[in-house]
Amino acid sequence: MTPNPVVAGLTCRCPACGQGPLFDGYLKVAKHCEACGLDLSAADSGDGPAVFIVLVVGVVVCFSALFTEIAFHPPVWVHLVIWLPLAAILVLALLRPFKGVMLAMQFHHKASEAGHDDV
Ligand SMILES: [Zn+2]
Repeated sequence: MTPNPVVAGLTCRCPACGQGPLFDGYLKVAKHCEACGLDLSAADSGDGPAVFIVLVVGVVVCFSALFTEIAFHPPVWVHLVIWLPLAAILVLALLRPFKGVMLAMQFHHKASEAGHDDV
């Protein structure tokens, strides 16, 4: 039974079996699944995860900074100390699971980027 692609992606597991690790490192996709042997060498999410994460984190951080400025008028250094590290932490925390979801969705929908042949 194929696992839910969102669950498999968020847990960074193989989209075919949900058991083996999807990544070999922080963002490098493993060559094959250690559990089921699925060939992952052709899996390519491109810049998709980074674009979505930058947009989501950008909206969260920018509107939070805007709200803070309007509500509290803090000095500029407060913004720099709060929002720059928060943006970096959110991007680093969300990029890996979101790349996993995109790769799992490509596999689930049999996209050519996941190694399926074009029809
Ligand atoms: Zn597998």
